[in-house]
Amino acid sequence: MSNDFDVVVVGGGPSGFIAAIAAGRLGAKTLLIEKYGFLGGMPTGAALGPISPFHFGDEQVIKGIPQQFVDRMVELGGSTGHAKCTNPHGSGAYLCFYDRQVYKWAALQMVLEAGVTPLFHSFLSGTQTDGSGRVTGVTVTNKSGQATYRAKVVVDATGDADVAASAGAKHVLGRESDGAMQPGTMMFDMANVDSRALKAYMDDHLDEFEWATEIVPMRPFSEDLESNYFVGQGFRNLVSGAIDSGELKLARDTILFLTTTHPGVIHFNSTRVHNVNGTSAEDLTRAEIEARGQVMSLSKFLRKHIPRFEDAYLADTGIQIGIRETRHILGEYVLQGEDVMEGRKFDDAIARGYFPIDIHNVKGREGYVKGGGDWTDLQDSYDIPYRCLVPETVDGLVISGRSISATHQAMGSFRTQGGVMGIGHAAGTAAALAALSGVQPRDLDVSTLQAALEAEGASIRRDPEVAAQEKQRAQEAVAEALRQGRITGKYVQEAMGGAKAPRL
Ligand SMILES: Cc1cc2nc3c(=O)[nH]c(=O)nc-3n(C[C@H](O)[C@H](O)[C@H](O)COP(=O)(O)OP(=O)(O)OC[C@H]3O[C@@H](n4cnc5c(N)ncnc54)[C@H](O)[C@@H]3O)c2cc1C
Repeated sequence: MSNDFDVVVVGGGPSGFIAAIAAGRLGAKTLLIEKYGFLGGMPTGAALGPISPFHFGDEQVIKGIPQQFVDRMVELGGSTGHAKCTNPHGSGAYLCFYDRQVYKWAALQMVLEAGVTPLFHSFLSGTQTDGSGRVTGVTVTNKSGQATYRAKVVVDATGDADVAASAGAKHVLGRESDGAMQPGTMMFDMANVDSRALKAYMDDHLDEFEWATEIVPMRPFSEDLESNYFVGQGFRNLVSGAIDSGELKLARDTILFLTTTHPGVIHFNSTRVHNVNGTSAEDLTRAEIEARGQVMSLSKFLRKHIPRFEDAYLADTGIQIGIRETRHILGEYVLQGEDVMEGRKFDDAIARGYFPIDIHNVKGREGYVKGGGDWTDLQDSYDIPYRCLVPETVDGLVISGRSISATHQAMGSFRTQGGVMGIGHAAGTAAALAALSGVQPRDLDVSTLQAALEAEGASIRRDPEVAAQEKQRAQEAVAEALRQGRITGKYVQEAMGGAKAPRL
């Protein structure tokens, strides 16, 4: 392999593989470096549940390459596509269920089709800079030893801003005031659950759930997949009592479970480990030990105490604990919580944000209902300015994904998959345009970048007519699901006591 590239993307998570596809399609010679042997980052490696919405209300704000990726998963028979939640609190407006193996394969197919060169099993171990501090390449350590790859522009999609930190870019770790970071979670799946019986139990015992939703798919999908989807969070009294008595080892006082694409397999987003610095190997080691202990304890508790789990077994865990937050780069603009909440628009918009601010309790076991963490609905979708992707001081570098320049609070909104994929589309496009035209990312003409994004189908501005059509289509789909008896219609916010509960 030649070691000279136009664009090197480090990190093959949702923001990285989308960035690599965008760069490759524009004709940039692109290398994608990933420490694992597959793509997907947290969604596949940490065994996540569904993709959170690409939508604000019923308006789809993430389109372009991220939507093409969802379409590919549906075509491959491994996803439901976007499905509407009848009670959006806690999940956001839509969820897109996917098979993790198909996710990995669809991402890899699209990366290869874009002419991108993948390099797996390779860990970033250094960054090259020239005399002016411009990044000129990266070094990786792998089975072959060490290798250096030169790039006109590097995209840092490690989630942790490893490239930027190694190049000396300014950053903060976690919350500005005290460095607190969102807790980590080891995700897991239980198989051999009678999910229809579980849903029937929920229908009859709504009072045991502080939040739950029925889900209405918006398009046809493979008949081999589960056909009924729902989410529930509850059992607070049971869980709290078991924690207090010492029977259950868990740092969270409710259980959040979601259906999956596989009949009889239920996914759990229910463990919690506090004070984990995901950029410290020692912290990560402590967190893996703690989280695995919680998984073993909770899966045993589920079998013993939670209705319809008597015959279930622990089928899968993440290959690593899920890390929600680490470094935030200081860029040419720092996206603020107010920008997000008020739906602020910017001239240099390159993607849109839409998800409620979702910050898990950084200290205790309580959820939003009991005053822990933050779930804040937004007034409108907001713009993500290109300046947030450009580090304040370092050249030759574009930041992608959850570590772009933003506060702890603002990141609590755009961190879900649709948000980081939209950013990834822009990051890869910007890197390719800068590399191919020989300008630094900070000097790139933003209107050229916006035009290139729109040419690939990205939605960086609202089209009121399309938004109205999307709303009407969603209402018709819910009405049809009710008519056909596919949903009960009782899982609405009012029926749940107006509760805003969980976190994903
Ligand atoms: C527990 C948990 C639950 C979540 N639940 C949901 C949910 O329900 N819905 C939703 O939409 N979103 C959810 N999210 C959010 C979403 O998954 C993440 O914010 C998103 O994956 C971030 O994407 P990213 O590309 O920025 O980083 P990541 O997904 O972290 O990807 C980074 C990639 O870079 C690689 N990498 C990192 N460092 C190096 C290095 N030094 N060298 C080489 N490779 C490296 C990693 O292996 C990984 O592939 C959840 C996140 C977590 C942690």
